[in-house]
Amino acid sequence: MSKKLKWNGTLISVQPRIRLYRSYDERWHDYSGYVLYVNGEIDGEARSFSLGVGKSVREKHQPKAGDRVAGQCLPVADPRRETAEYYKVSGFHVLERGPEPGEPPPWQGCPPELSVYRERGHRRLDKKTWKTQCRECIWGCLMPVELIIDNWNPSKVRYREETFCYGPKSCPRYRAGPTRKVPGRNGQQFDEGDWVDEDATAHRGPDE
Ligand code: SF4
Repeated sequence: MSKKLKWNGTLISVQPRIRLYRSYDERWHDYSGYVLYVNGEIDGEARSFSLGVGKSVREKHQPKAGDRVAGQCLPVADPRRETAEYYKVSGFHVLERGPEPGEPPPWQGCPPELSVYRERGHRRLDKKTWKTQCRECIWGCLMPVELIIDNWNPSKVRYREETFCYGPKSCPRYRAGPTRKVPGRNGQQFDEGDWVDEDATAHRGPDE
């Protein structure tokens, strides 16, 4: 069994850990927990890093940006299926609580339950905007994506990453970015237009 790595640091943000599956114009999600973005030290090296954790960490510890936290972890075995660098976190504990979050955006504080993300639905989010404006927001999400190219041969898959926003549609930081293209059989391609985002979030008003 691999030896776990010790880590500690300050939470930059907590975002949902959601995997996306695509098969041409169909898509579905796997809600596995949360991703902690940390600025601190791991295995004796000072740097920023990310950790995938289960939903019980949120339930027990209510982590939020600014908290000082610590634990142990393992490197992710298959980086195509996780956007976090590390997972299998054990011994998670809060060393010190950070200050209360300021005025949004970004929305900080402890993120909601995963069912809230499912109910809210998402819009595509420009990858650069996620990196520069949204990485500290509980409504941003960097997802690993598994693309099933051929339904008749589901073992034929490709992997990539996509970014999404679950936040209020009126957020001034929001930039959609280019539409997502999904490859299919025999060189076909599905262009996921704006209507998909509009449909997924039609039940929310602009400020919800
Ligand atoms: S665009 Fe979305 S993820 Fe980015 S700050 Fe606004 S609500 Fe948060």
